[in-house]
Amino acid sequence: MEKDKPALCGGKPVRDTKIYYGHQYIDDDDVQAVAEVVRNGDLTCGPKIKELEDKLCQVTGARYAVVCSNGTAALHMAALAAGIGPGDEVITTPITFAASANCALYCGAKPVFADINEETYNIDPDCVEKLVSEKTRAVVAVDYTGQSAQLDELLSLCRENDMVLIEDGAHVIGTSYKGRKNGSIADMTTLSFHPVKTVTGGEGGAVLTNNEEYYKKLLLYRAHGITRDPSLMEHEPDGPWYYEQIALGMNYRLTDIQAALLISQLNKLPAFIERRKAIVKAYDEAFSKLPQLFVQREIPESDTTRHLYILRICPDRLTIDRKRFFEALEAENVCCNVHYIPTYYFPYYEKLGYCRGICPKAEKLYEEIISLPLYYAMTDQDVEDVIRAVTRIAAYFAK
Ligand SMILES: *Cc1c(COP(=O)(O)O)cnc(C)c1O
Repeated sequence: MEKDKPALCGGKPVRDTKIYYGHQYIDDDDVQAVAEVVRNGDLTCGPKIKELEDKLCQVTGARYAVVCSNGTAALHMAALAAGIGPGDEVITTPITFAASANCALYCGAKPVFADINEETYNIDPDCVEKLVSEKTRAVVAVDYTGQSAQLDELLSLCRENDMVLIEDGAHVIGTSYKGRKNGSIADMTTLSFHPVKTVTGGEGGAVLTNNEEYYKKLLLYRAHGITRDPSLMEHEPDGPWYYEQIALGMNYRLTDIQAALLISQLNKLPAFIERRKAIVKAYDEAFSKLPQLFVQREIPESDTTRHLYILRICPDRLTIDRKRFFEALEAENVCCNVHYIPTYYFPYYEKLGYCRGICPKAEKLYEEIISLPLYYAMTDQDVEDVIRAVTRIAAYFAK
């Protein structure tokens, strides 16, 4: 029988139109909510901010939420609130977006990279433990793809060594760990609302915490370090207009326009979660049958809403490498991506003295992964097309 020929080798592509790897879903309610604020609302610092923060607390079980301009700002504020400063070390994973490590650099601290678990791809608590020094002030753990990091192990390490656990939860909204929602467990959890994430505000971010002290600091860092609360002031107020700057904060505010969009998006979160889980199930079922592929392992503690679906190839069982596999998918009109290039591969980090070889499992993973399309707006036909494209490529190039 003639093999099902991939488009890369002259076959007909599985589809004529391109399918994105990630895309937002915006409906009339979203548009209405934004229009309402633009027409009648406060454009920034208005009531939508508190409403969104309350909603995030409801959704995640966190006591406090501070929304801000993006996920990177959230990480920066969390690092400052944790007291990270020059001379400190912050342990994180290299398999993440650069912001997870950059937040340490913003504070004058040094990122230290711990290797991952080779099956779940999340930061390995044993590797973290080996890297703890007197200078370590915090761990930034990423819930890679949306699967929860091993929070209990990481929290007990942090408690033993007087470190703060910051969870970079840019992928995690909708996931729970041992029956508790992520966002209510670590010392602080950061979220991102970039358009490829599960819910979007165009841009946007948040820090979640149960700790009142962190909460108060986060409020200061979000807006210039300025307070109008007389109990925090050093001088007697001159008059009703008086405020004081008591810390060096930034302007990391979110607009009410974005907050309105996010509130409307969060109303759809249960539907987003259900659809993402169904797509992941379909992918897992199809790909676990193919010996050329490895399916990401799920830990039973995490009830996972995936933000990313990672296709991992077994290079020993294929005649092509990841780059060729990626090109073959693109030829089928299935757009893909790679998450992530190990952070310390970047020239900026090389110039700071980081060398390749420090996290061998992360480096091996990077050679073998492709992010497949995964988002609410995908149709069943889209999902079928992706499965068909992956299957025909894996079969055609099988060793
Ligand atoms: C998206 C993302 C960020 C940064 O979020 P922005 O809102 O784009 O600043 C940080 N960490 C991870 C893991 C991300 O995926």
